[in-house]
Amino acid sequence: MTVYANPGTEGAVMNYRSRYDHYIGGEWVAPVKGQYFENVTPITGQVFCEVGRGTAEDIEVALDAAHAAKDAWGKTSVAERSVILNRIADRIEENLEKIAVAETWDNGKAVRETLAADIPLAVDHFRYFAGVIRAQEGTLSQLDDNTTAYHFHEPLGVVGQIIPWNFPILMATWKLAPALAAGNCVVLKPAEQTPASILYLFELIGDLLPPGVVNIVNGFGVECGKPLASNPRIAKVAFTGETTTGRLIMQYASQNIIPVTLELGGKSPNLFFEDVMQHDDAYWNKTQEGFAMFALNQGEVCTCPSRALIQESIYDDFLDAVTERTKRVTQGNPLDTDTMIGAQASNDQLEKILSYIDIGKQEGAKVRLGGSRAELGGELEGGYYVNPTIFEGQNKMRIFQEEIFGPVVSVAKFTDFDDAISQANDTLYGLGAGVWSRLQNTAYRAGRAIQAGRVWVNQYHVYPAHSAFGGYKSSGIGRENHLMMLEHYQQTKNLLVSY
Ligand code: NAD
Repeated sequence: MTVYANPGTEGAVMNYRSRYDHYIGGEWVAPVKGQYFENVTPITGQVFCEVGRGTAEDIEVALDAAHAAKDAWGKTSVAERSVILNRIADRIEENLEKIAVAETWDNGKAVRETLAADIPLAVDHFRYFAGVIRAQEGTLSQLDDNTTAYHFHEPLGVVGQIIPWNFPILMATWKLAPALAAGNCVVLKPAEQTPASILYLFELIGDLLPPGVVNIVNGFGVECGKPLASNPRIAKVAFTGETTTGRLIMQYASQNIIPVTLELGGKSPNLFFEDVMQHDDAYWNKTQEGFAMFALNQGEVCTCPSRALIQESIYDDFLDAVTERTKRVTQGNPLDTDTMIGAQASNDQLEKILSYIDIGKQEGAKVRLGGSRAELGGELEGGYYVNPTIFEGQNKMRIFQEEIFGPVVSVAKFTDFDDAISQANDTLYGLGAGVWSRLQNTAYRAGRAIQAGRVWVNQYHVYPAHSAFGGYKSSGIGRENHLMMLEHYQQTKNLLVSY
């Protein structure tokens, strides 16, 4: 067990600056209007730094820098870009512990996750796109003796990227790595709740990129995100956040006829078929862990398995077992490597979750576990903690249909395969899903029948760089990760040549 010291205190592995400006053109640039906002750690509820409050003017300054860098960066060879991306990966890896603690302090998530998942996955994403960009090829077709059709990939130019607060560094990486590999320059806006860890990351890696290739402007949604997403000087907007915000982003982009990729909300079903209790201990153990994953990252995951659907014939025994299992999920100081779930990312998010817990109770759902704020003492008293909560109810209830984004799972029964699929698909969303069964026919058919971009079978919450990720229905447009992501950051040039 290791308990990391709070950043900035004696023995800490990293320290934040007390003030962060925007990162533009390779330099720290004060906001045009000179205003700053406070950044709070959800671990204790205390302010730990202030951050430049960006507006449309700052976005223009960043776009000037990005456009100045665009031609040179777009003309670098894929080999050069690949080397730079690999250097970024190496630098992150060398500083893994510092960045993991920085992310935990800014977001409140458990350091065991940032050490083992968030930051190593960020490293892997840079390495993956450093590799695939070298393997990507154009095409040449001989149409007849006199005509050749070439297809070339070209960068889009300057792209806008807007990200949420639940995986600040990983979400930035998912967007930056393919955009840079494809030869684009970027203006990125972090979420106002968690700007600091990305700025700290650029303290460490900024020198590896030519000035202006990545620019970070901090600020709030309408004040800073909108002037970026609606700006005629960007060639694409990539957005991750709520479905309601995604609708606005599409409207802005439509004014400029530019492409969007949207990674939006979810209400992911996790299906447990009756055979799961009949197999060996290792499988049964894995299945119970798969249920308890609703609490991972404090439930602040777009693919949080927030609806558990359990076959009627095993319902009571299964729920008894997984409730006991969930009680063993340790909650406490996020900087303690023994802690499995930490603090919710903001006070607003804490209040939203508690209000949904009230809604569930009012709807008549039964609280099987939790159902309240977690009161942790000492310096954690002012932090934002929620007890993992299990509700039993019906799929029509609001707690089954609306994204809570907290450690709350809503559990219902299903009778047979068709009922399971019907309930799983009875949602606006289509991002993630889980299927638990060792019967190949059941698992395969369920995996195909669920309307979601990612269906895990006999596992959950695994995010390899080379697996496409994205939503059906109101969960988004386009895919992230995988080779196919490169094309979301490229133009196709067709050269049709006659001799
Ligand atoms: P949000 O939509 O409130 O904010 C996301 C970002 O958009 C922030 O940077 C915010 O400042 C900005 N923004 C807000 N209003 C804007 C506007 N009018 N114009 C431009 N930018 C604006 O979302 P959130 O609360 O930060 O994040 C949680 C949501 O993100 C959840 O719905 C979750 O499911 C989703 N999410 C999806 C994925 C995915 O891959 N599908 C991954 C992570 C999170």
